[in-house]
Amino acid sequence: RLQRYSFLSLVSRRASHLARQRYDVIVVGGGHAGTEAAAAAARVGAKTLMVSQKIQTIGALSCNPSLGGVGKGQLVKEVDALDGLCGRAGDYAGIHFSILNRSKGPAVWGPRAQLDRQRYREFIQSELLSTPGLTVLEGSVEELLVSDPNPEESGQHRVTGIRLANEVHPISAASVVLTTGTFLSGSLFMGQTESPGGRIGDAPSSPGLSQTLRETLGLRVGRLRTGTPPRIVKESVDFSLAKIHPPDSHPTPFSFLNTRTHCKSEEQLPCYLTYTTPGVERVVRESLHLNCHIQQDTKGPRYCPSIESRVLRFPGRQHQVWLEPEGVTSDLLYPQGLSMTMPPDVQLRLIREIPALHRAEIHTPGYGVQYDFVCPTQLSPALQVKSTQGLFLAGQINGTTGYEEAAAQGLWAGVNAARLALSMPTVALSRTESYIGVLIDDLVSRGVTEPYRMFTSRAEYRTSLRPDNADLRLTLKGFEEVGCVSSSRYQEAVRVRDRLQDALTALQALALSTRNWRKRLPDVGMSEAKNTIGMEVLQYNDVSFETLASAFPEILSPHVEFSQRLKIEAVYRPHCHLQKKEIERIQKEENMSLPQDIDYFSLSVSLSQEVREILDKVRPTTLGAATRLQGITPAAIVHLFNYVRHTG
Ligand code: FAD
Repeated sequence: RLQRYSFLSLVSRRASHLARQRYDVIVVGGGHAGTEAAAAAARVGAKTLMVSQKIQTIGALSCNPSLGGVGKGQLVKEVDALDGLCGRAGDYAGIHFSILNRSKGPAVWGPRAQLDRQRYREFIQSELLSTPGLTVLEGSVEELLVSDPNPEESGQHRVTGIRLANEVHPISAASVVLTTGTFLSGSLFMGQTESPGGRIGDAPSSPGLSQTLRETLGLRVGRLRTGTPPRIVKESVDFSLAKIHPPDSHPTPFSFLNTRTHCKSEEQLPCYLTYTTPGVERVVRESLHLNCHIQQDTKGPRYCPSIESRVLRFPGRQHQVWLEPEGVTSDLLYPQGLSMTMPPDVQLRLIREIPALHRAEIHTPGYGVQYDFVCPTQLSPALQVKSTQGLFLAGQINGTTGYEEAAAQGLWAGVNAARLALSMPTVALSRTESYIGVLIDDLVSRGVTEPYRMFTSRAEYRTSLRPDNADLRLTLKGFEEVGCVSSSRYQEAVRVRDRLQDALTALQALALSTRNWRKRLPDVGMSEAKNTIGMEVLQYNDVSFETLASAFPEILSPHVEFSQRLKIEAVYRPHCHLQKKEIERIQKEENMSLPQDIDYFSLSVSLSQEVREILDKVRPTTLGAATRLQGITPAAIVHLFNYVRHTG
């Protein structure tokens, strides 16, 4: 189904034709944000054009061939619940599925998959090119067209369209979504060489775009950086010196529409774990003068640091290196943990200091990229630039890192761009209903000083924002209030909601005395409570829904389809209730004083090193002031609140 256009034929045959048309929405960029934005805008009913530099790189995974993880998996489930693409693409392209954090509760499980790069791209491209109302155009957007500020529209600029490189005629639209990723004034770094580029093999975005944002619209634009590891030839690796890491025996799909993944359980590929050695540290230190990326002040991703940053920050430590497959038929491995920007010959020396890689060959060297981002506090919760009617930004351009964060913003920006163009009010998601709401709220109200990535700890309501219930939280709203969910997906979510409700009612109604429970479930250590309902019994660790259903088949066996969801719901109900109350109490205690002599580094409460550093540096005087600090998670506030209440 994928149609390929050559750039030249498209510009000469199609761009002038498109110039005579007016679009509701134009999406600039075909990465993870752009593809979700374009598809979402079209689902809402907008006549949409997506322009990307190269059709064959639409949906490309620039760095790691993987999707999901802790916090990120929740975003994928939510994008899927809103009928987005990445969850289904992950199910199609996944070659190694695992649920991370399984030793913890299901609320913080992280669904993750290693992907086949080519399959992922093919799925996304095929979906887009068959989406009604969406036109895909290969081309480079050189200019963003905006009107002068209009006093009648509170001095706002208004977006009017775009102009492509080498094209005279503009293409007009009511809304434009910019998703330029790592391409906005992008520069690539390897050793002492710096060259213009958005990703290896791809030109950067034209300087005209950055100029319009800075100069015409007066937006605050900053600079961030990231990097990628060398790709290693698989057959040159000595796997006997690494530890095999098998996938889950039953792959769990991301999408609520799928009951199984494209890749069968037995077809999945393993990953391998190995470690750095003192030799790696030595090579990093010896080559620092040859590595201009690492010498720059620009901030890089704290949670996905280069090997240079890891070695310099934690000298003398061994660091994990995961050897991950790049695809079913690919001859390459992605060494996660070895992102580096030194010269290629030094990269080879470095990787050969790792025993499993002692004979390894590099296919493509690692490199770094620096790019412009727009400070996201200049956006509304709809991801619209506050000063410019109709201009929306999503993805890495807003200072985030990662495919999932980009996809989530893209979907929401696409929805709102379409709604604005179709004269419908824009919509927002709250922190209490979704991780997407947490992500957007963090960006627009706190901003970023380093690439932002999602964690479960950023969400105060994480026991209710679970991967398993994203459909109930978002699909119904997505259809009834937002308009981005298909009717068939909505019908399925309604069916699930009603069946779950029936099952919960049956569990609530199942009330027996402890004696009778013991008769029915002799192997379960029941507490001494006089009467207990089925919902409470299901909270016991050793009671599964299937156990209950076998004791009461006439009442519960019709509901076994939802066994796992019911068990999770039963376990979390009391937590969710308590958590909600706690948050309400904290909101009331905004003015609680924080002692100024607290030693944040020695507090025996669960605070990350990052949070301790910020609190120690700023020393907020009240709980409210701590809440508003960038980088302080809601969970940290809860711990701080409890600490001060108990000690003060
Ligand atoms: P991108 O995926 O970058 O897509 C941007 C799209 O816009 C591209 O299709 C491009 O062709 C198109 N485009 C740009 N300008 C124009 C224009 N003017 N006209 C038309 N089309 C245009 N993420 C992590 O989480 N951890 C990492 O460690 C990490 N390392 C990375 C290392 C490198 C070298 C790179 C390049 C990326 C890395 N990423 C990493 C980032 C990850 O790739 C991004 O977070 C994600 O791809 C962002 O999605 P996006 O849609 O915002 O942008």
